[in-house]
Amino acid sequence: MDRLPAARGFVRRFVAGPRLDDALAVVARLNADGIDALVTHLGENVATAQDAAHAADAYLEMLDQIARRSLRAVPSLKLTHLGLDLGESVCRANLERVAARGQASGTLVWVDMESSAYVDRTLDLYGAQHASHTNLACVVQAYLRRTAQDVERLIELGATVRLCKGAYREPPAIAFPDKRDVDASYARLVDRLLSADALTRRVYPAFATHDERMLERARESARRGGVRADQYEIQMLYGIRHDLHAPLRAAGLHLRVLIPYGEDWYGYFMRRLAERPANLTFFFRQLLRG
Ligand SMILES: Cc1cc2nc3c(=O)[nH]c(=O)nc-3n(C[C@H](O)[C@H](O)[C@H](O)COP(=O)(O)OP(=O)(O)OC[C@H]3O[C@@H](n4cnc5c(N)ncnc54)[C@H](O)[C@@H]3O)c2cc1C
Repeated sequence: MDRLPAARGFVRRFVAGPRLDDALAVVARLNADGIDALVTHLGENVATAQDAAHAADAYLEMLDQIARRSLRAVPSLKLTHLGLDLGESVCRANLERVAARGQASGTLVWVDMESSAYVDRTLDLYGAQHASHTNLACVVQAYLRRTAQDVERLIELGATVRLCKGAYREPPAIAFPDKRDVDASYARLVDRLLSADALTRRVYPAFATHDERMLERARESARRGGVRADQYEIQMLYGIRHDLHAPLRAAGLHLRVLIPYGEDWYGYFMRRLAERPANLTFFFRQLLRG
């Protein structure tokens, strides 16, 4: 796929490019429009401790470049990229390096949530690091049946939490198979994360979605509870629903867009294709034309 120009063009819709500079050029453009960024160095499930250390090094370089260029951007990483499959201690050491560098410049470091096999380990590691690295932020997925309970624990911690619907294929025993149930779960969790109780505990929620009904739910819930616009944020992915950026900004909302870069785009790209059948049709049409 990487060698077909038509495929490469379509990948570029979702991925800024192979290099950090490609991502930071997009960040600079977004910042100029009043939009903040998350930056992801693509990669997951590394097979060696050396690859995991290199991934952490890439995030250190990213943090340095963000500070040097005075950009409004923060990293968003995956624990399996930092070696979670190789053992908790390998991953923890890498995460601590990145978190400490972020802490030194007052930068948040988001820890993405991966498939259900990693949820306990990710939340445990986050919980264990939360006291010493207050700049770590974590993610929950509305499609998991367990998430309402996880959110209660995160509220007790006063966590910075991204709420997304969830991007992995999960069995019905642990995830809602029906999209309507996922949306209902998302809406309930929006209300919970914006509740007076959660905000009093210093929870900072980020609503990561392109679903206009969910975005409206967040705004409505915030309005009802008298929540200020600087007490939460909206997050979106590069390449999806850019048409919503200007109206969200005009409504005074804090918007952050996630910019992925790197050579290891396959897993990320496939999740973007899978969550929208229309993407597949478009993709294959482009391939045939190419
Ligand atoms: C900033 C950010 C960080 C994320 N981090 C994680 C994470 O850590 N773990 C995780 O499991 N998931 C993560 N996700 C992905 C998320 O779980 C969903 O898979 C993804 O956002 C699609 O769901 P949706 O909320 O946009 O709603 P949907 O109901 O899926 O989509 C709503 C509308 O958005 C548009 N849209 C959505 N997806 C696409 C697409 N691929 N291509 C084109 N249009 C699309 C369509 O117009 C669609 O009708 C993240 C998402 C965002 C925005």
